[in-house]
Amino acid sequence: MPSLGDRETFLQQVEEILDSGHFTNGGRFVQEFEKRVAEILEVKHCVAMCNATIALEITARALGLTGEVIVPSFTYIATANCLQWQEITPVFCDVDPETHNMDPAQVERLITPRTTGILGVHLWGRGCDVEALQQIATKWNLQLFFDASHAFGCTHNGKMIGGFGRAEVFSFNAAKFIHCFEGGVVATNDDVLANRIRKMQNFGFTKFDHTEYLGVNAKMIEISAAMGLTNLARMEYFEAINRRNFELYREHLKGIDGIEFLSYDENERNNLQYMVLMVDKARLGISRDTILNGLHAQNIIARSYFNPGCHRMEPYRSQSKYASIHLPVTDSLSDKVICLPTGAPISPTDVAYICSIIRFIVANRHTLMDSNVNQLKKSFAKVA
Ligand SMILES: *Cc1c(COP(=O)(O)O)cnc(C)c1O
Repeated sequence: MPSLGDRETFLQQVEEILDSGHFTNGGRFVQEFEKRVAEILEVKHCVAMCNATIALEITARALGLTGEVIVPSFTYIATANCLQWQEITPVFCDVDPETHNMDPAQVERLITPRTTGILGVHLWGRGCDVEALQQIATKWNLQLFFDASHAFGCTHNGKMIGGFGRAEVFSFNAAKFIHCFEGGVVATNDDVLANRIRKMQNFGFTKFDHTEYLGVNAKMIEISAAMGLTNLARMEYFEAINRRNFELYREHLKGIDGIEFLSYDENERNNLQYMVLMVDKARLGISRDTILNGLHAQNIIARSYFNPGCHRMEPYRSQSKYASIHLPVTDSLSDKVICLPTGAPISPTDVAYICSIIRFIVANRHTLMDSNVNQLKKSFAKVA
């Protein structure tokens, strides 16, 4: 659920914006938001935009990508679509079963004469194998950039995610750790690239009445930036709440054979915005989907992720070039992963309640197996 910073502060800023008459086009709030995000990420440049999907598209275009770009399939569909929308072919790669991140050994095998880039994803805020991907990119002269939508405020090898590869893109959508209602940021240490991206997101204008690139309109508006700044002011607090919830979930669900928690490296900073469980149907005796149905029957917004992987979604699945690809780890994870609610609105009582439902479903797995949401509602009504 969305975490919200101080409401009064935000509303005052909205008043200020309305009074100023400066609603968009790089006003003071967008400038301040870019500056704050660059400080946090320890990068030279941040360009704020309307969302991460468009920010990824613009970055791919500014990097001059064409032909094929290698991406994981176990990610949000936007990672692939930002390429396809520009008629660049996403080439799907499998992930590592432990880290859920793209497997560099497989990346190298997917390189063809048409490959121009690699788009890595730091899934669940855990840095992907940046060093191995960088080596491959350098060896084959490919552009490496990252979808860091999950990884705001996270580290990789002790360094803030944001400065790796040519550029990294963050999402500030309402579902993310820090949000601007909708928003995205491109972070980079490259002066020339930053300048090109900044121009492309404003129609390609380099000065008044003068364009140099094909551009679009991807600007962030002032009210979004104000929301972002208000939320950033509470970033440590949101992180602490997520950590508390994470530990409570682990405590309440301890010792269930067949439910495994995604582990986080204690030496790295992680925003813990995703409470990731993996359900092993063979061991637990009940499927991930029945557990999800049970939670939905109680109006708990838990979700499967990424189900199915991008290669099994349109417009990719029915294209002949994807027909023969086989991504066993992605397919297996798509059947196992469940993300439980967390974020500032989720209290310890909520966590205890959600876990009691999961325990109820597991305890009654023989009767509840393969039940749909309505059948599960009836089962819960009987015990209530
Ligand atoms: C949320 C998300 C996006 C899209 O971000 P928007 O800001 O909603 O466009 C892209 N990639 C990943 C991995 C995401 O989780």
